[in-house]
Amino acid sequence: MKAFRRFTVRVPLPTELAALGPLSHNLRWVWNPPTQELFATIDAERWEATGDPLRVLADVDPARLTELAADEDFRARVSAVHADLEEYLDAPQWFGGYAQTHPVPPGIAYFSMEFGVSEVLPIYSGGLGILAGDHLKAASDLGLPLIGVGLFYRSGYFRQSLDHEGWQVERYPVNDPRDLPLTLLTDGDAPVVIEIAMPGGRTLSAQVWVANVGRIPLLLLDSDIAANTDDQLRGVTDRLYGGDQEHRILQEILLGIGGVRALRAYIRITGRDEPTVFHMNEGHAGFLGTERIREYVAAGLDFDTAEAVVRASNIFTTHTPVPAGIDRFPTDLVNRYLDADDSGISRLLSGLPASTITELGDEADPGVFNMAHMGFRLGQRSNGVSQLHGAVSREMFADLWPGFDVADVPIGAVTNGVHGPTWVSRVWRDFAAGDEDSAPEVYAGLPSETIWSTHESLRAELVAEVRRRAHASGRERGFTDAELTWTADLFDPGVLTIGFARRAATYKRLTLMLRDPERMRRILTDPDRPVQLVIAGKAHPADDGGKSLIQEVVRFAEDPQLRDRIVFLPDYDISMARHIYAGCDVWLNNPVRPMEACGTSGMKSALNGGLNLSILDGWWDEMADDDNGWAIPSAEGVEDENRRDDLEAEALYALLEDTVIPLFYRRDENGLPTRWVEMMRHTLTRLGPQVLASRMVRDYTTELYCPAATAYVAACADDHAGARDLAEYRREVETGWGSVVVAGVDEEHEDGLLRVSAHVAVGEIAPEHLRVQLVLGRVTDDGEIVDPAIIDMKSEGDRDPSGRVVFSVLATPPASGHLGYTVRVLPHHEQLSHDAELGLVRYPVAGG
Ligand SMILES: *Cc1c(COP(=O)(O)O)cnc(C)c1O
Repeated sequence: MKAFRRFTVRVPLPTELAALGPLSHNLRWVWNPPTQELFATIDAERWEATGDPLRVLADVDPARLTELAADEDFRARVSAVHADLEEYLDAPQWFGGYAQTHPVPPGIAYFSMEFGVSEVLPIYSGGLGILAGDHLKAASDLGLPLIGVGLFYRSGYFRQSLDHEGWQVERYPVNDPRDLPLTLLTDGDAPVVIEIAMPGGRTLSAQVWVANVGRIPLLLLDSDIAANTDDQLRGVTDRLYGGDQEHRILQEILLGIGGVRALRAYIRITGRDEPTVFHMNEGHAGFLGTERIREYVAAGLDFDTAEAVVRASNIFTTHTPVPAGIDRFPTDLVNRYLDADDSGISRLLSGLPASTITELGDEADPGVFNMAHMGFRLGQRSNGVSQLHGAVSREMFADLWPGFDVADVPIGAVTNGVHGPTWVSRVWRDFAAGDEDSAPEVYAGLPSETIWSTHESLRAELVAEVRRRAHASGRERGFTDAELTWTADLFDPGVLTIGFARRAATYKRLTLMLRDPERMRRILTDPDRPVQLVIAGKAHPADDGGKSLIQEVVRFAEDPQLRDRIVFLPDYDISMARHIYAGCDVWLNNPVRPMEACGTSGMKSALNGGLNLSILDGWWDEMADDDNGWAIPSAEGVEDENRRDDLEAEALYALLEDTVIPLFYRRDENGLPTRWVEMMRHTLTRLGPQVLASRMVRDYTTELYCPAATAYVAACADDHAGARDLAEYRREVETGWGSVVVAGVDEEHEDGLLRVSAHVAVGEIAPEHLRVQLVLGRVTDDGEIVDPAIIDMKSEGDRDPSGRVVFSVLATPPASGHLGYTVRVLPHHEQLSHDAELGLVRYPVAGG
């Protein structure tokens, strides 16, 4: 019979081995091989089966622990690994050095709906979560004082299997926090309980789990406690991306508002420094901004000043260029939570109408509250996650900065990266003794034979893993062992291996490669130069379209003539991913450009010497060169989707047949594919360092965290005088902007120089609160100025009696060509991060 409930009895560790406690609880073991080896030594079989130190300790025979406690060698290893952890947790690292010469924040809070740190903590669904996990790990390695904030899901994201027909089946295993590397946050002996007032006089309560990711604490809120007497509230954290809109908004309120409260409790209890910078990883975390405003209002600031402080120190990262991927709620629903008389939020906003808050989420569609818009409005600094995605975001959100050219929209870009120690296979890491910085130089000096044999061994391991998983999957689908004998020798360790693993979202086009099934069949089964293809990915449980795509692949792969060369592996997650990235020769990615914000799987492949074969989208658009892989030509601009797919599939087949496959099989007299290996070497040495999460976190620190920390200090100094001043300035400019007019522009030419004077009516606004600029450059036939020079103009004295000020400048125009210029007036304040920030600009009246 089945157990109604399960629980674990832990054998106390012998005192000699007490350090295994902290070693199993700190998730640094995820990227520290010596720690992993300790647990493998304790029980190799359990380690192999679970990859989880806590499970090894839970299942180990007490006699084995006694035996190890008496083993001097083992005790010495435990001490050494433990000492290494302690040292790792204390060393100043890169951030400590950077802080010597730069103003850095004393703390940074990083909020995300999901965190993919390890497969043993399954509270992530895919790219966004794994990115957040890699962010924490790199922040730990670099020594940032960062604290992660997220939710603890009882069932996380689903586990995927297939039924007999190849249709996706979802399972939701229950996470028991007591079996996970989590500690309940307590104050003295009492668990900390976070409360949020709900409409109808109810209260949403949550406890807080703490995971240690190296030196980074990760706080996870959990609503599954008895204090929540109603099922709706108790179920808020039941699963990730599972419920309806109401469920989702409750999760986001718990993350944003509850997260700030949990953070405050954690800081109070641990005595750590208060974070001054708050990073919203995607719009889900937007309510942290409203909660921070509430805190300042409760402390006596007016709303505008509070908002100015919060904006100065919030960073918003947007992750999707697909409008349908943006989180939007009916404004009524948001109002119901924020406006209810008995809601703590509106009470503490001292009578401010909730519309003040709901305006933060306004968009063109009336009645819709847009979480990304709130993110931008409450974050003075914002970014997309690749250079291309930055550009696409500037266009997508240009409405928030009306009047500005798309290029001037103040959304930057920090290209994502992946955590090297997690994603680089052990054999590659060992060449540079785990030192990321010296790895490129070491790879540059490796003999080609070594690069190739290292990679071939990883491909062989992948083949073994494919066989194991294909057999297990077949059993799960109801096939008998006898029917599955073929899985024992499916795939071939010597054959060109292509990987394709990602969510089955429509734009990722899982089945593009099957557009011409006969052609794909020929490619796979070529007798001289065959190809094998490993495919994985989950469809969202509500996405029957995605499930059909998976089924199409599974059906195609079932053909007895093909099944040795193409396989769909169910349940794509971190543990499977590691094998595929390490063992594939080529990583395929064919999204509909420009819908892939960044993509990170190709980066993980590249870190292991894989060559990318991808549409020029996301990160690949900026990092592809001719030596690290191949760009699939994109048919962007072809309106007919079907035709576009045909064209791009054709381009993919042609690249494979004419370039990729011949190159892989072109061997020298020693059997070495010399050109291929050179491309691998180039990828490892030149591309590798650019795709690391350590590069990404350094970029965030220097470009966003530190400027935000400085802005925060400026806003708070002198009892928030800076923020008050900025808030007042905003009011002044927003009310007075209507009377700002560029009333006339004069020009004079002096010896090839151009003097431009603008007569600007400034109304009530002080001239020093405006920036007037000459925008000068070549013009196109229809009068657009391209790549202009932007030159500040100086005021020539005070307002004249009619309220005008003359601004002028002497400029050097380009030596030749069709030239043109205009003048623009912008608000200017030293605490604005960018002149475009307030979305206000004035040009000369047409014909003036
Ligand atoms: C890296 C990774 C992803 C994200 O990959 P994309 O290229 O962004 O689609 C998803 N799932 C797993 C398990 C990963 O390791």
